[in-house]
Amino acid sequence: MTFSVHGIAVARGIAIGRAVVMGSGRADVAHYFVTPEQVPAEIERIRNGRNAVIDEIHRLQQTIAAMGPKEAPHELSALLDVHLMLLQDEDLITGIKHWITDRLYNAEWALTTQLEVLSRQFDDMEDDYLRERKADLEQVAERILRYMKGMASPVAQPPAPKRKTQQDLLLDDSVDVPLVLVAHDLSPADMLQFKQSVFAGFVTDVGGKTSHTAIVARSLDIPAVVGARGSSNLVRQDDWVIIDGDAGVMIVDPSPIILAEYGYKQRQVELERGRLSRLRHTPAVTLDGQKVELLANIELPDDAEAALRAGAVGVGLFRSEFLFMGRQGNMPDEEEQYLAYRRAVEGMQGLPVTVRTLDVGADKPLDEGHRDEAHLNPALGLRAIRWSLAEPEMFRTQLRAILRAAAHGRVNMLIPMIAHATEIRQTLSLIDFARAELDNRGIAYGEVPVGAMIEIPAAALSLRTFLKYFDFLSIGTNDLIQYTLAIDRADESVAHLYDPCHPAVLRLVADTISECRRQGKPVSVCGEMAGDTQFTRLLLGLGLRSFSMHPAQILAVKQEVLRADAGRLEAWAREVVDSEDPSVALGA
Ligand code: PEP
Ligand code: MG
Repeated sequence: MTFSVHGIAVARGIAIGRAVVMGSGRADVAHYFVTPEQVPAEIERIRNGRNAVIDEIHRLQQTIAAMGPKEAPHELSALLDVHLMLLQDEDLITGIKHWITDRLYNAEWALTTQLEVLSRQFDDMEDDYLRERKADLEQVAERILRYMKGMASPVAQPPAPKRKTQQDLLLDDSVDVPLVLVAHDLSPADMLQFKQSVFAGFVTDVGGKTSHTAIVARSLDIPAVVGARGSSNLVRQDDWVIIDGDAGVMIVDPSPIILAEYGYKQRQVELERGRLSRLRHTPAVTLDGQKVELLANIELPDDAEAALRAGAVGVGLFRSEFLFMGRQGNMPDEEEQYLAYRRAVEGMQGLPVTVRTLDVGADKPLDEGHRDEAHLNPALGLRAIRWSLAEPEMFRTQLRAILRAAAHGRVNMLIPMIAHATEIRQTLSLIDFARAELDNRGIAYGEVPVGAMIEIPAAALSLRTFLKYFDFLSIGTNDLIQYTLAIDRADESVAHLYDPCHPAVLRLVADTISECRRQGKPVSVCGEMAGDTQFTRLLLGLGLRSFSMHPAQILAVKQEVLRADAGRLEAWAREVVDSEDPSVALGA
């Protein structure tokens, strides 16, 4: 039966494929396809993992038998019996083999997929005792996965999925149909894993439009919907689904008519992409001759390639925190960071790279263990520059690495979430200190202009101080909206109040741009607003000439720039900002 689940549109386009439903916390398992020749080896790996866990349980049983009932209660051996029974269960084994043989999933992925299938069956059981055995099944799977972590996978490079046409899809039941990920939640670090993704789109139960998970999804350039409540429960493993990333809808089990309609839309989107790609080498200049700088936001050094491919004239925001995530607290040292920044700089072939210093905290934990649940309001807590100033050793290590990378090309440094004059002075003196350390060590470094992000209203209202100390400003509208309107950007329950068009937000953006222009200081916008074509004309009219966004958005924004007459937009933009309801004036 066809049904749809509505959420929040975060990354545009249409994806059609089979659902891979992923339970919470399963995203760190590798997902890739094996070749048919590798199937026996994958089955062998899972069999070895299972056998090793069975042996471990047998050994435990022997130890328990040697103990008295006081030290080893009866419940313990009963529990181990249950685990053994689950490990030998035919449904588990047959199911895993099916995902490996018929779908060519790697062993870990096949295991977690089958675990999801069986978990649903347990959820549906009437008997309380049996229903509770789901937890045992999860423990058993966890033990196998842990064992398999110690075994190298024989597969070197995950092959990319092939794209199928609509016609193929209607008839197809084979292995290379696109896959669509449906999960309860994904952390930004999980999303990063999917950069080499086998998935053609994804849907999550939770999340807001500018949550960091959504931002990484946008950088993957695959259709995505977040905040689609209940979807990971409503969709079953292998269901056919359509993700409409423009409307923010997932359609489950679509009828052939709906499938055909979306197949048509998908082709239109691809045609439009083809048309836009012709603009790649066209300079971004308005009709009245105003040059506009279109820069890329990146998460990892290798993203520089996508930035160049999209025609970016530099990197306006390198979110360096992604180098620090998912490492179980092992921070990259100076050398590792230096090499990473240098790779981005060299990857941009002489174009400038703006490295933002670490911005962790709130919805960007370093890894799952660091999720900031202890603090009541992580978004208002020890985040970004506050965190760096609280960890001066770590901060200076990063500063030295950035300064050293500047010996290899043009580098700017950008400071996130800064609001106080004391923070500004402390930061700048730590940068001086880092330079002095490099001088003492005789290590080469380059000139690095230092800029601040304007993402707290207090900063936007203290521009005089900011412009006195910094070489440039970059407006982080994602956080500026969050903090101006007191809306947690990651919380889908208040997503309807997250409004870039709120007059207060537009006023802060407009004033920041005009004050920078008045003082002749460079200013850009690097929040999601910069890549949203709804706002291109408005920002041009407000005097913005530097936009930084995900590479996938650059060509569409360029098209808007080429069609705009910036001079004529000025009066209109002022009117929009001054109006009671700017979204109406904007036609948004
Ligand atoms: C912003 O806040 O607008 C921004 C660009 O930074 P981030 O999204 O990483 O918080
Ligand atoms: Mg921010």
